[in-house]
Amino acid sequence: MHNQHLIESEFPLTELKGVGPQTVIKLNDLGIHSLNDILLHLPYRYEDESIVDINTAADGEKITVAGEVYSSPQLSYFGRNRSKIAFHMLVNQVAVRVEFFNQPYLKHQVVIGDTVSVTGKWQRSKQIIQGSKFSKTVNDDSDLALVPQYSLKGQLKPKQFQKLVTQALELTEITPMIPDELSKKYKLWDLKQAIEVLHFPEEYTSLKQAKRTFAFCELFLFQLKMRMLNMKEHATGLSVGIDYDINAVKDFIGTLPFELTEAQKKSVNEIFRDIKLPIRMNRLLQGDVGSGKTVVAAIAMFAMKTAGFQSALMVPTEILAEQHAESLAMLYHNDVRIALLTSSVKGKKRQILLAQLAAGEIDVIVGTHALIQDEVLFQRLGLVITDEQHRFGVNQRKRLREKGAEANVLFMTATPIPRTLAISVFGEMDVTTIREMPKGRKPIITSWAKHEEMQIIYGKTLEELNKGRQAYVICPLIEASEKLDVQNTVEVYEQFCQQFGTEKVGLLHGRMSSEEKDAVMERFSKHELSILVSTTVVEVGVNVPNATMMIIIDAERFGLSTLHQLRGRVGRSDQQSYCILISNPSTETGIERMQIMCQTTDGFQLSEKDLEMRGPGDFFGVKQSGLPDFKVADIVEDYRMLEVARDEAAAIILNGEIDKPENSGLKNRVQLELNDMEID
Ligand code: ADP
Ligand code: MG
Repeated sequence: MHNQHLIESEFPLTELKGVGPQTVIKLNDLGIHSLNDILLHLPYRYEDESIVDINTAADGEKITVAGEVYSSPQLSYFGRNRSKIAFHMLVNQVAVRVEFFNQPYLKHQVVIGDTVSVTGKWQRSKQIIQGSKFSKTVNDDSDLALVPQYSLKGQLKPKQFQKLVTQALELTEITPMIPDELSKKYKLWDLKQAIEVLHFPEEYTSLKQAKRTFAFCELFLFQLKMRMLNMKEHATGLSVGIDYDINAVKDFIGTLPFELTEAQKKSVNEIFRDIKLPIRMNRLLQGDVGSGKTVVAAIAMFAMKTAGFQSALMVPTEILAEQHAESLAMLYHNDVRIALLTSSVKGKKRQILLAQLAAGEIDVIVGTHALIQDEVLFQRLGLVITDEQHRFGVNQRKRLREKGAEANVLFMTATPIPRTLAISVFGEMDVTTIREMPKGRKPIITSWAKHEEMQIIYGKTLEELNKGRQAYVICPLIEASEKLDVQNTVEVYEQFCQQFGTEKVGLLHGRMSSEEKDAVMERFSKHELSILVSTTVVEVGVNVPNATMMIIIDAERFGLSTLHQLRGRVGRSDQQSYCILISNPSTETGIERMQIMCQTTDGFQLSEKDLEMRGPGDFFGVKQSGLPDFKVADIVEDYRMLEVARDEAAAIILNGEIDKPENSGLKNRVQLELNDMEID
């Protein structure tokens, strides 16, 4: 997604004074190819170099002080290229020692009697400033001196870069992006003024205002794009609504082994409302693990079948695909023709299956990535559901959707998405949320133990096994090496075998073939195994209601969301379930994670916390997030503004403001970006 096109300019970089071929190469290296890029290469931070009163400066703080040099600089060398230069200066009647490391050239600049300023870390007890910046000039008044910090990779000096910014500002026309009315309403600046101040701030208030203006611009443009995209999605939808047989659907719901929760009913109805209309559904169904999303999906696919349409359910792993296919077959009895397509389905069997699919002899197909290959053709695809959608790349989602020009789309996720992200990442989708759990579920009791306490854990596990229950033991993923993971998992497996006997314990990891994995999983499902030692293969979706114990080894290595997903593998029946986090965290964050996990089982609360602790980029994994790379706006901090931007974006589309001539610049911009946007 590109939001670096706020501005357009026809001048090449070489138009600028002081920019020859050499500098162009350096600029290109920084990702700067045009005058826009220069203007939008904003400081990542501002250093406050205004002079402070040393008497009130806190110990350890980075400060800038001014004063008179009163001892000549002493230069000493140690090691090969390392040096220290030290001198004294008088700051507000306080004698201060100043030290600079590895800047021997300062020897000629520090002159007794000169008034100078020094920026550095203040060590109050020793009365020393560990200098980082020396200047022979002093800001004459007590004004703020905000010094922009640019990421220039040493290619250019900040001052040199700012000269280019000044020229670019003169040469560049900047299209206003915010309609006048909104600018007035929210007291925003002109975009050009904002950009200028971001590069040349004079004091905090105006810098804040510039940031505000720029952030609003980014969010507003982004929301406009999302809105227009949503309209496009709907517009390219079906020519007819899905004419499902409501009585048949009701009968089917009556055959389910349980009563639907209110939240499930509401979800089904929202989906029905969408598919009934001659537009294409684009909906996100989010609900905590075990909240019953799969059943909702099953009902939607059943409805499709009654109208003569096919459905596809795409999931991230083979195990999950098989589980889903199995549990769907159980729910549907023989009323729905269901098939499984994974990479393990090969040869003749695959050919037959594909032919049946193309002929419309299959109603529901469940599968992995295999579903998006070119050879897979549908007779009449009406609904595409992806489970755990953020695990699929944006492009994969898009390709699946393109399989059926008529297809309605439902994304399901068990990673509850914080409100902030739901608006920003899925702004183009309608959202259905299940916040209620099926009745009779007991909250999982979570506790945190240290590695030294393994014996107690074994005892606790034995108690559960004696009650006829089963346990998962999850080993962490050591990012660097799958081989190490496996090794580690095998070790844990052996320890559990020693305690409980080899015949009771199963092992599952990423290096096993899918046949091997299936075999183990099946034995665990059938309760031939009591304990399953596994890597995070079981993270998503696996359903063994008799398992009541989840042990997570080195739990601090997992993010909150993952821990929550793992914990969701138990607590799937009316039995009390337990989750034990084994962890000796060495960081504050690690400790905090363990504590939060013990305090709450609310996935939404956890995901808000996770977002807060890890930031939005990490939350989904950078590549898959589809998150725009905002320069100034911060979707967590500027959440209120995001909401405002969303509402205003919707409003100007709805009231036709967007089509007025004075907003043509804005509209063109958005349309241009939509054309090359990768989000789906
Ligand atoms: P999710 O996909 O949201 O993780 P599932 O649809 O797999 O949840 O449901 C989890 C478990 O709860 C399944 O065993 C399912 O049969 C059961 N379940 C679903 N809905 C209900 C309900 N309304 N009442 C009781 N049990 C339910
Ligand atoms: Mg599920």
